[in-house]
Amino acid sequence: MATGLVTHPDCLAHVTPAHVHEQPARLALVLQALDGLPLFRYAAPLASDAALLSLHSRAYLDHIRAAMPDTGFTVMDPDTDEETVLSPTSLPALLRAVGAVQKAIDLVLSGEVTNAFAAIRPPGHHAERELPMGFCFFGNVALGAKHALDIHGLDRVAIVDFDVHHGNGTQALLWDEPRALVITSQQMPLWPDTGDVTETGAHDNVLNVPLAPGSGGAAMRAAYEAQVFPRLDAFRPELLLISAGFDAHAADPLADLVWVEEDYEWLSHRLCDIADRYCGGRVVSTLEGGYDLSALAASAATHVRVLTERSG
Ligand SMILES: [Zn+2]
Repeated sequence: MATGLVTHPDCLAHVTPAHVHEQPARLALVLQALDGLPLFRYAAPLASDAALLSLHSRAYLDHIRAAMPDTGFTVMDPDTDEETVLSPTSLPALLRAVGAVQKAIDLVLSGEVTNAFAAIRPPGHHAERELPMGFCFFGNVALGAKHALDIHGLDRVAIVDFDVHHGNGTQALLWDEPRALVITSQQMPLWPDTGDVTETGAHDNVLNVPLAPGSGGAAMRAAYEAQVFPRLDAFRPELLLISAGFDAHAADPLADLVWVEEDYEWLSHRLCDIADRYCGGRVVSTLEGGYDLSALAASAATHVRVLTERSG
């Protein structure tokens, strides 16, 4: 068996102005870092409107399409969020980011590959039903969960989001979805200032794991051992989705969790252990944040290398 890599050049054409941390070079360097790994490569398709409408409203789709500029940039909310920005060539990237996760799920559930990584941008875990924020426009991984549940007919899908920021969008989009377990660890306090332990979902299907600034990889490992893995064991997912952000890295300019590559390696292996136990190893991981370019590339390569080691 093998590991799939789903990506598309259109994801590099989502251009952002210089002040925005989420830059095309992020994905370019991640892809370069994955070059030597034994991966089966696939082109990400464009997501359909029907797929987007499983969690976003028609009015929101129309709003996003209308916001695409002919030239220059559209800042979605200049008052509160100057970094969520569209360029004239952004729409295919947005649609392929969603499509990549769905394609990766199709590949894993058909048995063509054991696990897969969607190397995409823009990220998705901050996007809510009618609200773009934090570089995100559509809920890539939440839409992936819906795809696995509604199109493939799975009964239980778990999402683990280890990006340093709270996966507020994934949480909001799947708040009332009892077939999805959403687990998100995040530095707290940190933007977007949500993700308290009291946020547990409409069906006790959300687990928030706040981590203190400066707490480092040891605190992360302890929290995952004490809280995350037991919840996954109790839930027995049929598919494990990962929101893989690498901005908890010590070098990242946006946060202070002080993780290193070995922490991502440890966590990737432990999540694959869970997948081996309940899902036949089926893991679909998707790129979220990570803003120090070399730390992002090294950490993503470490994570995907573990997927390749575990796909055999
Ligand atoms: Zn982040």
